[in-house]
Amino acid sequence: MVVAAEQVGKMIITVASGKGGTGKTTVAVNLALSIASADHWPGKPLLFVDADVEEPNAHLFLKPVIQTQEPFGLPIPHVDAAKCQLSGKCAQVCEFHAIAVLGTKVLVFPELCHGCGSCTLVCPEQAIHEEINQIGVIESGQVEGVPISFLRGVLNVGEASATPLIRAVKQRLPAGRTVIIDAPPGNSCPVVESMRKSDFVLLVTEPTPFGRHDLALAVQVAREEIGLPVGVVINRDGIGDDSVDRFCGEHNVPILLRIPMDRAIAEAYSDGVPLVNIQPAYKTTFINLFRRIQQEVQR
Ligand code: SF4
Ligand code: SF4
Repeated sequence: MVVAAEQVGKMIITVASGKGGTGKTTVAVNLALSIASADHWPGKPLLFVDADVEEPNAHLFLKPVIQTQEPFGLPIPHVDAAKCQLSGKCAQVCEFHAIAVLGTKVLVFPELCHGCGSCTLVCPEQAIHEEINQIGVIESGQVEGVPISFLRGVLNVGEASATPLIRAVKQRLPAGRTVIIDAPPGNSCPVVESMRKSDFVLLVTEPTPFGRHDLALAVQVAREEIGLPVGVVINRDGIGDDSVDRFCGEHNVPILLRIPMDRAIAEAYSDGVPLVNIQPAYKTTFINLFRRIQQEVQR
């Protein structure tokens, strides 16, 4: 399959799903492998970003060689009780409820803190200083044998601040590259952060009423709240009902690909083998998916 250079735009595609277990990572990985290995892939390698920082698993399929590891931390406020006059201004400015004045004490909840620095800025007594609290690591590397660079964030076990880590990962995206982002599942803040500044959001779902429910929320977030074009991949097509089809028809959401229920695909997934490695014909399927995405973006 030939993809001409002029057909391969520099796009950022976020692959997301309203809930876990829909095959989101399968789609993201195989889309990346297919278009990066296509003939005439121009210039710089494609960049794959695993933004599912709480449970990153794309490396199991892409097996990148990690070349850099960078600790990532947040500046967490610490209050000097001797200087504090209990004005409460720090608590008032914190939109995350991560600092509170209780009686004669100021309490900081590091697991809620986003490290924004607002409390330090507003403190009239300059009673707050910040100390870096490492919450994870940012890794980058290269997939062997395919022109794919790899970037991911890994949140420390037990840490709750996925959003700042995803934001830091995305700040490292180089310009002028085609990027595939594997977003966390769900529809909360980390997903919104993963989608931001993308050109297109590809939503992977299952053809069931649960799938339809979570898909509707994901469409609401991506299209209505962030204003991005969206398209749908129906995975395990044939297992449920037509509720996803009806939703997409009623809300003008294009269905770009259907992947049938196939035991061989499930076995390959559990073995950590990309779908296109066991069924190479899928490369054409995913390249065509990429073309459909390009068409949707250019509409
Ligand atoms: S803003 Fe400063 S002085 Fe006021 S309660 Fe917070 S730490 Fe204390
Ligand atoms: S740094 Fe920001 S998020 Fe953290 S406690 Fe201060 S105001 Fe709240």
